[in-house]
Amino acid sequence: MKRKETQSIRTQTDRTKFGEHATPIYMTSSYVFDNAEHMRAMFAGEEEGNVYSRYSNPTVDEFVEKMAMLEGAEAGWATASGMAAVFSTFAALLDAGDEVLASRSVFGSTHKLFTQIFPKWNIKTNYVSATNLEEWEAAISPQTKILYLETPSNPALDIIDLEKAAEIAKKHNLIYVVDNCFTTPIIQNPIKFGADLVIHSATKYLDGQGRGLGGAIVGRQELIDEIESFARHSGPCLSPFNAWMLSKSLETLQIRMERHSQSAFDIAQRLQDHEQVEWVKYPFLENHPAYATAQKQMAMGGGIVTFGIKGGLKAGQNFLDSLKMLSLTANLGDSRTIATHPASTTHSKLSEEERQKVGISQGLIRLSIGLEHVEDIWEDVEQSL
Ligand SMILES: *Cc1c(COP(=O)(O)O)cnc(C)c1O
Repeated sequence: MKRKETQSIRTQTDRTKFGEHATPIYMTSSYVFDNAEHMRAMFAGEEEGNVYSRYSNPTVDEFVEKMAMLEGAEAGWATASGMAAVFSTFAALLDAGDEVLASRSVFGSTHKLFTQIFPKWNIKTNYVSATNLEEWEAAISPQTKILYLETPSNPALDIIDLEKAAEIAKKHNLIYVVDNCFTTPIIQNPIKFGADLVIHSATKYLDGQGRGLGGAIVGRQELIDEIESFARHSGPCLSPFNAWMLSKSLETLQIRMERHSQSAFDIAQRLQDHEQVEWVKYPFLENHPAYATAQKQMAMGGGIVTFGIKGGLKAGQNFLDSLKMLSLTANLGDSRTIATHPASTTHSKLSEEERQKVGISQGLIRLSIGLEHVEDIWEDVEQSL
């Protein structure tokens, strides 16, 4: 089998009669049948093929095939956004009365699902600390069905040992699901460490240029089958246009992640040496509390750096206001470097106590290091500090 870089370029749907080199976009909502018998057989599921683009589409299939290949998964399903992937996974696999065991440091909208939406259907989430796996088993009940985590966490960059979490999931017969958006399949492959399903917001690094939304779920065939039968009829499908854009983006994912990681490591080191900076967190800095785990399960450090400025909230806001080039926006994983202040934006809906629990101090700044020249990124950060 060819290597990841090659496969993400060379995996293509069949050429049409025009012999195009790049894959065309199949912008079609439905597909025609040869005759009445063919149509009957397709609807009965007796023959393979496309019926309707809420069910399947060749451009979407190409994206899914690449994602499954990159994560080492048996099968996959693509969705209109990362949250559609998260929601579909839980909605398809859980019944009323079931429980979720989740690391407390999850994406803001996922937290909202756990705390405000799933309880409507009597699905309860038990949160545990990302940094203390000892407490996880105690939080498992006979109703617990899914173990869910993100590593590194957003924005605290806590690292969870994927292999140890797999042991807990296995022992208690839980479906083990990892949101792998922060690292992409280039840096970390949770399936290799025992995960059953891996979720992605393709909106971030997979697109990588901040252009469009998308999501994917990859993993064990029988679980994907359940998600597919839910998603076919509830409609979170990815549009062929966005699938085309994302599939093109995957062709450059490896080289982009290398550059994001290289520049982020460089900026993290320089921040560490700056007198205005109180602390810096980056998975591949030796002083990260879980440095050894990061080295074990991540091929590179990734593109996100967090740090605290001396002077807390006010100094953090001053820093953002003084930036000349870096963008102030809620996204991450873009070719453009982005600075955010989670306490007043993405995590403002959490109480101060909840923010403390997930390691978000008032002065915490999150940088999503882009693909500009690293000296230009640093010049802006430094003048602003
Ligand atoms: C952005 C994000 C999501 C949600 O993805 P959307 O494409 O915005 O719906 C889920 N998980 C993580 C870790 C994210 O960063």
